[in-house]
Amino acid sequence: MKISAVRTHILEASLSQPFAYSRAWYSSRTAMLVEIETDDGLTGWGECYGPARMTAPVVDAMARWLIDQNPLHTEKIWQQIYADLRDHGQKGLIIEALSGIDIALWDIKGKHFGVPVYDLLGGPLRNSVRAYATGLYRREGGNPPDYLAEEAAGYVRDGFHAVKLKVGFGIADDLSAARAVREAIGPQTGLMIDANHAYDAVAAIELGRRLETLDISWFEEPVPPEDLDAYRRVKAALSIPIAGGECEFTRLGFRDVFTTRALDIVQPDICAAGGISECKKIADMAATFGIRYNPHVWGTGIGIAASLQLMATLPTHTPTSLSPLEPVLELDQTEHPIRQAILKTPLTHLSGAVKIPDGPGLGIEINRDALDAFRVRKAA
Ligand code: CA
Repeated sequence: MKISAVRTHILEASLSQPFAYSRAWYSSRTAMLVEIETDDGLTGWGECYGPARMTAPVVDAMARWLIDQNPLHTEKIWQQIYADLRDHGQKGLIIEALSGIDIALWDIKGKHFGVPVYDLLGGPLRNSVRAYATGLYRREGGNPPDYLAEEAAGYVRDGFHAVKLKVGFGIADDLSAARAVREAIGPQTGLMIDANHAYDAVAAIELGRRLETLDISWFEEPVPPEDLDAYRRVKAALSIPIAGGECEFTRLGFRDVFTTRALDIVQPDICAAGGISECKKIADMAATFGIRYNPHVWGTGIGIAASLQLMATLPTHTPTSLSPLEPVLELDQTEHPIRQAILKTPLTHLSGAVKIPDGPGLGIEINRDALDAFRVRKAA
């Protein structure tokens, strides 16, 4: 079996209303999907996190290294591409591109053997995961504590065990938003906060101290990802667990996170940090260091499916026992017209739980009509 074609799909959809996190407004969602074909008729799908118009040409440029290779050789292909580009791309676009390719190759591998990817990773420890709701972004108009409280209460009604609130809008603003959300969800529902690295250590510590009475499950990306010293300062100062890692890449990037104990919870994105091959290694390192692994997930159904396949094999956070703490799935609840439309069968939650697909490969089928509907036409 040989790789016969590599295609990229840049997709974009406008939103019915814009929303904001601490650093920018969104008025559209994009996706970059990777399609790899083999000479025996199998097709694998992957997805790259990051700017779609930039990851697509990187994947296109890597295609010449993939044609005629055996798609089962995921490790060989990963190591070859990484080594060829080591001098130029240990993080960022190169690794995001490699991630989408790696996921597509694992999809092919599973389809070739007729088993889900988790079988090839050693077998599932679970067949469903609990999801938490990512949402609670800012909107145009309205009073944030009011509309955030209403939105959060809706997630509790939907059955989610936890919700994640965007912070990083200024300490007073964050405090009023977090108090309103905690009030709305009650004491039993988990509440996480995510600053998307809008603060420095001083501001993050001040916010964290003032939020410690609200029973915050984790404080995500309080400070910029490249400043591990700031992470350690925040972690040492607060009783709230500190999370991050969606902007980190490969096991080599995570090495310093682990060895210097910069985080309590790592959140690699499988579509960015190096794909299934690399995230399995990062997960093994996390378990070795006793650091929790809860993936960052912000993509389409392909990214969700790839994350679920790996999550099936993750060890429990706390040691095996009668009621261990399990890894949790990030389930983005914001508007994303492409997310489920590209799947023939949507990957949705039922009372906050998501079943891990058990079909071959990633366990999903792609709706090509949706690709055409959202495709960004290449300029003539
Ligand atoms: Ca985040």
